[in-house]
Amino acid sequence: MRVFNFAAGPATLPLEVLEQARDEMTDWRGGGMSVMEISHRSKAFVALARDAETDLRELLAIPANYKVLFLQGGASAQFAAIPMNLAGPEATADYVNTGAWSKKAIGEAKRFLRVNVAADEGDSNYSTVPAAEGLRLTPGAAYVHYTPNETIGGVEFPYVPETRGVPLVADMSSTILSRPIDVSKYGLIYAGAQKNIGPSGLCVVIVREDLIGRARAGTPLVWDYKAMADDGSMLNTPPTFAWYIAGLVFKWLKRQGGLGAMAERNRAKAVRLYRAIDESGWYANPVAKPGRSWMNVPFTVPDPALEKTFLAEAGAAGLTNLEGHRSVGGMRASIYNAMPPAGVEALVAFMTDFQRRHG
Ligand SMILES: *Cc1c(COP(=O)(O)O)cnc(C)c1O
Repeated sequence: MRVFNFAAGPATLPLEVLEQARDEMTDWRGGGMSVMEISHRSKAFVALARDAETDLRELLAIPANYKVLFLQGGASAQFAAIPMNLAGPEATADYVNTGAWSKKAIGEAKRFLRVNVAADEGDSNYSTVPAAEGLRLTPGAAYVHYTPNETIGGVEFPYVPETRGVPLVADMSSTILSRPIDVSKYGLIYAGAQKNIGPSGLCVVIVREDLIGRARAGTPLVWDYKAMADDGSMLNTPPTFAWYIAGLVFKWLKRQGGLGAMAERNRAKAVRLYRAIDESGWYANPVAKPGRSWMNVPFTVPDPALEKTFLAEAGAAGLTNLEGHRSVGGMRASIYNAMPPAGVEALVAFMTDFQRRHG
């Protein structure tokens, strides 16, 4: 029996996608083999890879002067690959710190260049986003890095930072494809696949062409955007099965009506859940309203001793993986694209009932 899986990542995938993968598991497109068992350089796989890129370009309306790379090493590898590709060791890059993933990106970047922290929301315990005018940007910085959606804290930017011509770099791991975006505002967008794209093992990088081809000396070839772009992300063997599933997810998104339709659905899901929390007078979400995430919704009960009971009873009701990140505790519901509205309805109904019994 399928449950409603609120995991933050790896996260739930569309049932239709899983069923198609199951049906094709031992005999993909009549070849008598799984897609996992064929060469990444075969005609069939190269066509699949191209198709996935075309669909992603269409979904996000990616302009022609951007490369799309399908890389390995997750978003964490990009924490290092970005400074290696976009800046020399003497350069300064601006980083906005809105929580756990920003901090990791900053920590890694510091090994490669000078980091200026353009804003740090530590004073609010990372429950806010900085004011748009409040960013202390370095003139002539190599780039500005921010995390549009902090997966652990559930904090999301309601605006795109204005960087006055400095390339804007965004870790969109937990928000990509949740709504339309204007890719032309960014120099580079990257996203680990396991939240809103597909299985782990794949990281999508969307990078403006003029930013590639100047990786610093010593950059490993598999992290060199130019080398990877020139080889269609197949300088080495890519994670072919993850790429295949990502392609199925892109097709599924198109069948849902594209990102405009997903945005409507995601906004409605988030509004429903936050309203239930706010109106309960019992559950609480710590994030200041303008920065509340559509994708990751942390919440608490008044007595932390009840958390274990909450999680156990939720699990028994088919609502799984609701525990908060080990670093913050409490609960967290991740409601990515593949979480159907019915999952949020079921969670709200459970929360209401749980409060009635324990509140
Ligand atoms: C999950 C996540 C990461 C880390 O991704 P890995 O693939 O594990 O490296 C980085 N940034 C954000 C915002 C995330 O949600």
